[in-house]
Amino acid sequence: MPVLPEMPRREALIGGEWVATCETLPVEAPARGEAITRIARGQAEEVDAAVRAAGDAMAGRLGEWSRWSARRRGEWLLAFAATIEADHARLAALECADTGKPLTQARGDISACARYFRFYGGAADKLHGETIPFETDFAVMTWREPHGVCAQIIPWNYPAQIFGRCVAAALAAGNTVVLKPAEEACLSVLRLAELATQAGLPAGVLNVVPGLGREAGAALAAHAGIDHLSFTGSPETGTRVNQAAAANHVPVTLELGGKSPQLVFADADLEAALAAVVRGIIQNAGQTCSAGSRLLVEDACYDAVVARLSERFAALRCDAGERDADCGPLINARQREMLESRLAAARDDGIRVAAAGQLADGAPAGGHFVAPQLLVDIPEGHEVIREELFGPVLAVQRFADEDAAVRLANATDFGLCAGVWTRDGGRQLRLAKRIRSGQVFVNNYGAAGGVELPFGGVGRSGHGREKGFEGLRSYTRLKTLAIRHG
Ligand code: NAD
Repeated sequence: MPVLPEMPRREALIGGEWVATCETLPVEAPARGEAITRIARGQAEEVDAAVRAAGDAMAGRLGEWSRWSARRRGEWLLAFAATIEADHARLAALECADTGKPLTQARGDISACARYFRFYGGAADKLHGETIPFETDFAVMTWREPHGVCAQIIPWNYPAQIFGRCVAAALAAGNTVVLKPAEEACLSVLRLAELATQAGLPAGVLNVVPGLGREAGAALAAHAGIDHLSFTGSPETGTRVNQAAAANHVPVTLELGGKSPQLVFADADLEAALAAVVRGIIQNAGQTCSAGSRLLVEDACYDAVVARLSERFAALRCDAGERDADCGPLINARQREMLESRLAAARDDGIRVAAAGQLADGAPAGGHFVAPQLLVDIPEGHEVIREELFGPVLAVQRFADEDAAVRLANATDFGLCAGVWTRDGGRQLRLAKRIRSGQVFVNNYGAAGGVELPFGGVGRSGHGREKGFEGLRSYTRLKTLAIRHG
């Protein structure tokens, strides 16, 4: 067992106090399949108290948040970004142990979390309404007001990053937050919440209730006291929380994953493309909503691409996060078993594994490792090119021309991201217009996670946008003021 970082608190954060719950839940380290600590098991009662505390903070009944100007909120967020950076080593160690991801990736996630607080800290006092030319005896303007109490339900794959993405934007816009992190991994979130209270955030502005999805999560989504819901996770749970929120007429942002294609044309810089293709699928062991899990290759370079990718896949190694290999374990036994059974079914259907990585020498026993795999010879419409597998598995298909490439790219209900690799400028724009997805990257994939870039999907990938200014706007509602001045 490696030396573990000091664990964060086991309670829920409600109204500025750390509150013990009747029961707790074990937290497993995915690299070893062993429990490393316990977290609170919040239930409807704790969720209700947290929503009331967030409502009181919003209304000025608990602390002074409602009197903080936009500039003061921004200054707090900027200072908090520095607090995160000062605690970087401990936060990264927690993220690495808890999610199993390689330490370098965990470090990058903590830096990204700090970047969200810095970006939204700078943006807080730059969120303007408009003036609207109307009849000559009117002055018309719009105000951007906070929704109020923002409920945020987040997943286990990027706890710290998604905390930054959702919490920083909501607070910058003047909201208060009740956050339900995932039961599988939330240690960095609990540490971030600890740091936020120490950094002087008024009581009730940020509340964190760990617990099970079907208990704390369901209670939060259905609570009549929330004014906005942001959910990141699976499409099935997304539908459920959307329905629960609709009963209370609560606006919802859904970020539900994808089956994102990377398209490689023969005129592309293949070296750059293939490096990005591999990174795009093994990052966080493929457990990334924006993973580039499908590769579409033009006939003219198909054999060369598969041969060169096979070499790269065969060289990949899986290991515990702190040993910082190419790929960590999957989050738990359930995810590993689900992926293994889908891979077995794919082999039964004649799909070929062109190459696979391996477990590193000395990797710990008991970890939920699945070696990266390159799948080829895939029949059209097969599950491995339609469904999110959430593992380090790349499905390769070939195409003859642009029309065929677009047809394959759009042959899924998801639409989150796409990568296009070609030197032809006209083709870059034609494809960017025709591919159905929220983000398109040309000659790169993911733009290094840019916090400034609006992010979200179409179809089964969800709706609404997080990140960038668009994300900040989604944490506000517009009020129109029309003054007749005679
Ligand atoms: P999930 O959607 O069930 O969990 C995400 C969050 O929702 C967690 O905080 C969970 O506690 C909460 N939740 C679960 N049930 C709930 C309910 N009934 N009401 C309210 N909240 C609830 O996802 P999962 O079970 O952890 O993973 C299943 C699949 O989802 C994965 O295989 C993967 O395909 C997908 N997934 C996608 C993302 C993403 O970033 N898009 C993240 C995690 C999982």
